[in-house]
This record gives sequence, structure tokens and C-alpha cells, in this order.
Amino acid sequence: MVHDSRDRELGMHRRITRRDFINGVAITAGAAMMPWHLLADEPADPQKSPGYYPPALTGLRGSHPGSFETAHSLRDGTFWDEAGKPIDTGETYDLIIVGGGISGLAAAHFYRKSAGTKARILILENHDDLGGHAKRNEFRVGQRMLIGYGGTYSIESPEPYSAVAKSVIEELGIKVSSFPKYLERNLYASGGRVPKIFFDKETFGQDKLVDDPYPFPGGETYDLAVAGTDAWTHFLADAPIAEQARKDVARLCKENKDYLPGLNSDQKKDRLARISYARFLTEMVGAHADVVRLYQASSHSEFGVGIEAVSALDASDTGFPGFNGMGLKASGLGNERGYFFHFPDGNATIARLLVRKLIPEAMPGASATDVVTVRANYAKLDEEMSAVRIRLNSTAVRVKHLGDAASAKELEVSYARGGKVYTAKAKNSILACWHVVIPYICEELPAKQKEALASAQKVPLLYSNVLLRNSTAFQKLGANSIYAPGGYHTHVDMDLPVSIGEYRCPRTPEEPTVVHMCKVPCHAGLPARDQYTSGRIELFTTNFETIERKIREQLARTLGAGGFDPARDIMAITANRWPHGYAYEYSSLWDKFVLEGGEKPCDVARKPYGRIAIANSDAGAYAYTDEAINQAWRAVGEITKG
Ligand SMILES: Cc1cc2nc3c(=O)[nH]c(=O)nc-3n(C[C@H](O)[C@H](O)[C@H](O)COP(=O)(O)OP(=O)(O)OC[C@H]3O[C@@H](n4cnc5c(N)ncnc54)[C@H](O)[C@@H]3O)c2cc1C
Repeated sequence: MVHDSRDRELGMHRRITRRDFINGVAITAGAAMMPWHLLADEPADPQKSPGYYPPALTGLRGSHPGSFETAHSLRDGTFWDEAGKPIDTGETYDLIIVGGGISGLAAAHFYRKSAGTKARILILENHDDLGGHAKRNEFRVGQRMLIGYGGTYSIESPEPYSAVAKSVIEELGIKVSSFPKYLERNLYASGGRVPKIFFDKETFGQDKLVDDPYPFPGGETYDLAVAGTDAWTHFLADAPIAEQARKDVARLCKENKDYLPGLNSDQKKDRLARISYARFLTEMVGAHADVVRLYQASSHSEFGVGIEAVSALDASDTGFPGFNGMGLKASGLGNERGYFFHFPDGNATIARLLVRKLIPEAMPGASATDVVTVRANYAKLDEEMSAVRIRLNSTAVRVKHLGDAASAKELEVSYARGGKVYTAKAKNSILACWHVVIPYICEELPAKQKEALASAQKVPLLYSNVLLRNSTAFQKLGANSIYAPGGYHTHVDMDLPVSIGEYRCPRTPEEPTVVHMCKVPCHAGLPARDQYTSGRIELFTTNFETIERKIREQLARTLGAGGFDPARDIMAITANRWPHGYAYEYSSLWDKFVLEGGEKPCDVARKPYGRIAIANSDAGAYAYTDEAINQAWRAVGEITKG
């Protein structure tokens, strides 16, 4: 009863869309767990069904039910026992690409430049939408459309974009330098909304919202992480941590102290590469343990683990406090000044613009600004007459040369869709999918390469977008972003106020708004890879109802003092779960070869094999859009040379 009445207060009974979907069709929670082959009554070509429009689906998105079961049955070795005889589509292509993320789409773009626009290309994608991690979420309130990013947030990268990646951005019509004109930079600050920290009673003894005096990491991006003018006064007076810890935070952020005097820059970097940021804080800075508790989750969204598993050197490169006085020579990292662009759907716009280049009828319009509000025509993605075809809801299950890899003229690609297995042939294939999948679909690769591919464990993340009736509670509490070190979601952010093309972002607190919440399911204390594995299992086994309840509880506790009522104010929730999220990036704490030298697994993993080339951001062990493009370019070069 207690549970029931609390659920009622939270609004768990309210009619928001919270069903799970397979291929645009609502299913029950039980059906979501069904193995792929039992879903045989799906339409054969779901993306041509009337009303098929994945960006508008709410509930559990990202790796949604229906997208991963086939791959998991391949992993478990049960797929081929249950699969029927493959059906030959009779289709032949110049190139079949596995994976419809930015790397796969960019590969198609580069291939056409090399082989001509008549080249026949098939892109297979296991999700019901295009773009991979670059995912668009749409919401409707009456006639108004609000857009959120379900994955990739922006064009930005610690490394400068390569000439190749920049030229793609330019070809798509995106003028990165024009971004400031679409951003209402002072909207939140002028309304008194600034970054806050929510201290929760389980971690800090009481629930309290306090000004964040030093929001980070920020670097040179436009994340509006600018502290309020009285933030230090508020923080030093109100933060519910030990007094010494408050003073230590001020010391850490304001002092320019060298914590490793007597060493040169390289020697310091070597020391910092060997300890975690948490140890840097306690052992080198001498900070109170509460400082570590405060900052523990500050690295989640960037690194996918807490500060006990991030090296102090990586923390210094990313803008964490404590390094200003250490005289560290610039590492070459650091966002390229001004090279930043955030579309309301994040880099889903890049994916959509690539689709426009490949199949113009599927993405009407002519500019990088009009595309923001364009409704994609999914029925046009896979037309027989089209040179490029994008086949969604299709998991590649086998890629093999017809004959010996060194001399074969053709490949056969099998894929599962709607409970059946199909085959198509191609002269070449680019695997732009997650590397952990490749050993299961491409058995003929050398064992050493398969091992390297399998080591590319992804970083799990949950990006929840919550449509709110209004943002008056944020206004009353003077908040635009909230860091919640002990929260289920550790970051609760209002999006950058960007109005572009026909799209108008919410400007006043009375308008409906989409709030973005980020959770990283890490398990502090374990080695980073083990944290990713256990976090992945956690995400795959958490149902939408649990996520919804957590969101309602967290927003009620965080915003309640501002008049927020979760039962009244939450209108829709889209939880983008990414059990296989960021590409694994090598760390001096966890990967020996970073300090000691030696072959990197990604160098082995991406080697071409016969008529197969391997792309994806995993191929560069670098979780950024530019790397997905760079790797596509390299992969296309490998199959088109000679
Ligand atoms: C939550 C999140 C936020 C991010 N934010 C940023 C950011 O702000 N800026 C930035 O630059 N980068 C960001 N990144 C990283 C960036 O999104 C990626 O580097 C880039 O989009 C990866 O593109 P990709 O095509 O290599 O891989 P993906 O986008 O993962 O695409 C690969 C596709 O292959 C599909 N696939 C896998 N196996 C199969 C199979 N057997 N058959 C068919 N299809 C298959 C996958 O489902 C996936 O859709 C973010 C990543 C995540 C997860």
C-alpha cells in the first residue's frame, strides 16, 4: 500500500507513453524479452508501414527491445540452431555496409565519391532508426514539436577535427562558425538560472540544492557551465560536507599550486598518468575525503567511470580542477577553440544530412538548418530503384567470402529481420558496427584479430529525455543544470537554448521543455572494463518502469522546493539506453601499453581482410563523431585502392 500511494504521488499511474516498442509496434513487457525468432509476425518491411516514425517513439529507446536479441543469440551460440534456411534476396551490391551509424553512413558517402553515384550500396542496421548513437528524440505538445538528443550531443572533440572530418561537415552544409547566432547564450544566466549541485541525504546526510561554484569539465565548449556570481559564498556557507572539505574545494579550484614541485612537465605527467584523480586529490592535494565524495561522479559523463578509475593526467586534460599551477605543457588535447555545434537533436543532424546526400527523397530539404524540423520519409530508405538502400531492423549475422578471402570475387552477407534470415551478395563489405559483434558475424577472421575486436568493450550510458509541462521549478530554484553526485542520474540539464531553421527552443519558464538526464551505471572499485561489463548488464536488465520511477523520485526531490509535482509536470519520458555506448578509450591506469608502449588492440582489430574493411569509432578507440568519419574514410580507401 505504501508503495502504491507513493507511486500515485509520483504519477506512476499517469497516462504518459511508457510502453516498449518493437519496430514501431507497441508490445507488452513480456514480449520484449522474447527471442527474435518468436517475433515472426512482424511486417516483412516495417519501415514501409504507414506511420513508421521512430524519432517520435517514447519509452525505452536507444538499444530498444527488438534491436539486440539476435546479436545476443549469436553470442550465446543459439542463433543458427533456431534460424530457418536463409532466403536469397537475389540482390547484389558493390558494397554492403554493416551499421547505419555515422561511420557507416560516412563510408557510403566516401565510397560514392570514389566509385561514382551509380554504385549500389546496402546499409544494414539492427535498430529501428538510423544514425546509431546519434539519435533523435521528438516530442509533441499540441502543435509544437520539441526535440531532444538521445545520444551524441555535439560537434566537438578533444583532438582537432581532421581535414577529412571537417570537409564532410562542410559538404553537409554545416557552418560550425555560425553556431553562436543560433544560441541564446545569456538566456539562462539573465533569468538567474545557474549550475547547481544536489546533495542527497543518503550520501551527504540531507537533501540540499547548492550553487556549483566550479562547474566542470567545461573547456572551451558552449555548455553554459558558468557559475553564478555568488556561487562561492553559497557553496562555502551551505554545502553539506565537512567544513575542511569546503575549504579544500576552494583551495583546489582557486589556488594555482604546484603539487609536484621539483619535477619537469614530462615527469609530472608520468606521475599523474599512474594515479587516479581521486588519489591525486587525497594524496597530492591533501583534500578531505568529502571532496572525493563530491567529485566522485563528476567524471561519469565524460569517462563512464568515477574519479577513482580516471587517471589524474586525463582529468587534467579534461579541465578538472587542481592543475593550473602545475606547469604541465599542453598535451595537444583541448577542444579546438570555437569548433563546436549543438543541434537540438545533437549529431543526429549529421546522420540525417548524410542520408540526404545518399537518398535525397528520404530527407527532403536543402540546408543544414531546414533539416532540423524535417520529417524523414522512412519508406524511401530502402527502395529497389535506389542506388543506396538503408535497411533498418536488420542484424547482420554472417559476412563471408565466397571462396578464399585472398582471391574471392564476392562476399555473401546474411542478416536477420522479422524472424527470418536473408542473404545478399556484394563485391565488398565494410563492417562499421561495434567491434565486439564482429567475431560472431565474421568467423573467418584471424584469431588474433578477433581477440583484438572483442576487447573493444563499450561504455554503457543512459540518456533520459523528460518532457516537462514547464520549467518554472528550475526558474524558482535558479537552476539550469544540476550535478547530483549521489543521484540515479548524476546530471540533470536543460538543453542549450538553440533556435535554428524553423525550430524554436523553449524561451520562457512557462513553456514545455525537455530536460536531459544522464546516468552512467558504473560500479566504483572494479577495474574500468569490469565496471563497463557490469553496467551493461545492469542496463539490459533494468525495465522502463524502474527508470521511470527513479526519474520521478529524483526530480521530485531535486525540484520539489520549486513547486515541481512529478505527477502533474511530467508529460513523457524517453530513456535512451546504451549498454554498448562510447568506444573504449585506452587509459594509462588500465591498459599497460599506454605507458609501456606496444601494439594497440585497435590497430590489429581494424586490419582489412580480403574484401572486408573495418570502420566504426571503435577502430580508433576514440568515442567521437570525427573518429567515426576518419575510420570510414580509411576503410573505404582500403577497399577502393588498386
Ligand atoms: C550517449 C553518447 C553520447 C555521445 N556524445 C558525443 C558527443 O557529444 N560528441 C561526439 O563527437 N561523440 C559523442 N559520442 C560518440 C559518438 O556518438 C560516436 O563516436 C559515433 O557516433 C560513433 O559512430 P559509429 O558509426 O562509429 O558507431 P555507432 O553510432 O554505434 O553505429 C554503429 C551501428 O552499427 C549497428 N550494428 C551493430 N552490430 C550490427 C549488426 N550485426 N548488424 C547491423 N547493425 C549493427 C549498431 O547498432 C549501431 O547502430 C557519444 C556516444 C554516446 C553513446
